[in-house]
Amino acid sequence: MVEKLDSFEQFDNVFKIISKCTDDYLFILDFIEDHYNITERAAEVFNIPGPDFYNATETLNNVVHPEDREMLSDNLGMIKAGKSNGHDLEYKWLNKNGNPVWISCRGQVIRNEQGEAHFLVGRVSELGRKNKIDNITGLYREISLHQNIAQMEKSSTNGFLLLIGIDNFKDINERYTKEVGNSTLKGLAKCIKKAAGSTAEIYRMSGDEIMVLCKDIVSDGMDPAKNMYKKIRAAVNESIGEKGYRLFYTISGGYVYFTEKDNFGLNYIEKAEFALRIAKIRGKNMCICYKQKDYDEYVQKLEMQEALRKAAENGFEGFELYYQPIVNMEKACIYGAEALLRWRSGKFGMVSPGIFIPLLEESGLIIPVGRWVIEEAMRQCLKWQEKCPGFRVNINISFVQLKKSNVISDIDSYIEKYGFSSNNVLFEITESGELESGYATQNILEAFHRRSLNLAIDDFGTGYSNLRYIKEMMFNLVKIDQAFIRGIKSSQYDYMVVKQFTELAHSLNLKVCYEGVETEEDFKCVMELKPDYIQGFYFSKPVPVAEFEEKFLGKENVY
Ligand code: C2E
Ligand code: MG
Ligand code: MG
Repeated sequence: MVEKLDSFEQFDNVFKIISKCTDDYLFILDFIEDHYNITERAAEVFNIPGPDFYNATETLNNVVHPEDREMLSDNLGMIKAGKSNGHDLEYKWLNKNGNPVWISCRGQVIRNEQGEAHFLVGRVSELGRKNKIDNITGLYREISLHQNIAQMEKSSTNGFLLLIGIDNFKDINERYTKEVGNSTLKGLAKCIKKAAGSTAEIYRMSGDEIMVLCKDIVSDGMDPAKNMYKKIRAAVNESIGEKGYRLFYTISGGYVYFTEKDNFGLNYIEKAEFALRIAKIRGKNMCICYKQKDYDEYVQKLEMQEALRKAAENGFEGFELYYQPIVNMEKACIYGAEALLRWRSGKFGMVSPGIFIPLLEESGLIIPVGRWVIEEAMRQCLKWQEKCPGFRVNINISFVQLKKSNVISDIDSYIEKYGFSSNNVLFEITESGELESGYATQNILEAFHRRSLNLAIDDFGTGYSNLRYIKEMMFNLVKIDQAFIRGIKSSQYDYMVVKQFTELAHSLNLKVCYEGVETEEDFKCVMELKPDYIQGFYFSKPVPVAEFEEKFLGKENVY
């Protein structure tokens, strides 16, 4: 042990007692003997040879993260030079695995009679354990933000919260490794520090999200939060470029100003989180300001989804199928009808399919509801066949049903259950990007084809207008979207597209149906183009079963 054993031992004995009462690590650094002593537990965590060692300056240098060595050596230099008696730093030590651990080190200098710094006595505290600092980014954790905001609310400071998230962070972790994910986060934290400078406080939130808190902003009529996002994005792009575009990523942002006060509902952090979610939903790589209207719509959407779930659970209560006649142009008679789903909710009244169908799709409820539609439409069609032999029904199928359920086996089971002829049913699939998305969809379409189940491509012209599917004869019928039909009276272009397409489809032996024929004028105009079928308000809107029976069933010569 050291020569000046007395005083060192005195400290040491007291430490041994106190260290049992705290999670912190207590230490004594003897500058003169270059000797260090720290609570025993520290030696189990950090990259040090034991709780008690000489050659302290060099050994400690090895436990300090390379980035922080200079800062620490400056501080100790000031103490030794008699310019400072304080030691209060937050920096990183390395643990036994070489990973950085954020610590707070605070101590008091004890000088000898000659005024030399003899001892530094203090404590090392793991900030991560105290939930204060995040070890990956070195930023303060969310808990500190809550405390800060609570204080600000009392003093009604102005400012904003801007939450930044990495787009598709999960992909980065999965495609590369978690380490790459972590270093991307660290890089983002650096970019934010660079862009925000000293004007902001920065916090690591959960996952890939980092919060920027700006106080006491002076408004110059611009949108400072959005400007901050732009600066951060520019810094991110620059750093990606500097690294040779090895890993490319984008960021989204959501922000809220502290003036946005409603004293109920969401707190500021939740508002920024919500705005970020909206930015991601709207396509990512953008920044969105919190708006109460967006939140109200979101809440309503959740409530509606819940009501839809309950309706499906309660024997599909409130769901009904309407039917719209499809007219065979050659024979001037009803060819069949398209079954169109309606939903009347006790709380929301009659809701448009344009609203509730996407909600059913998002929640996956379209799978049970879609099954109900198939069964219901087939049963109705069978009834109508008694009066009108060969009556056909068109049923809409969503991509979610195609991708996430075994819709063909569902169809087969109903065909078998009711002895239904598959010739009398046709399934409509909307043209969209989904049709393009890989082999899975294509395999399903081929399975329909192999089973000789009739398929129509719905709303043709709104998506990718993929002639490949047409060429490969996956479909039996092409339904040209109402937007084109609406345009053919006034637009020569639309007229020519519809004309050429009809001729092309006919040359491939495909049938063509025009959707959205509304007026007498539309009707006369489209007649010249010789579609096989027409569907539109000109003949009828979709109507309930009884009305369909009364107006159309068994009626000859509809025009
Ligand atoms: P869709 O399959 O293209 O159905 C045709 C839509 O056009 C129907 O809207 C119909 O009312 C409307 N329509 C027909 N003729 C005219 C016209 O002359 N003028 C105008 N302005 N509109 C006309 P609806 O019933 O609101 O349905 C909208 C969409 O919801 C459907 O478009 C379909 O994609 C979807 N949908 C409806 N029922 C179901 C269903 O049971 N399952 C699935 N997956 N989707 C459905
Ligand atoms: Mg349809
Ligand atoms: Mg359509």
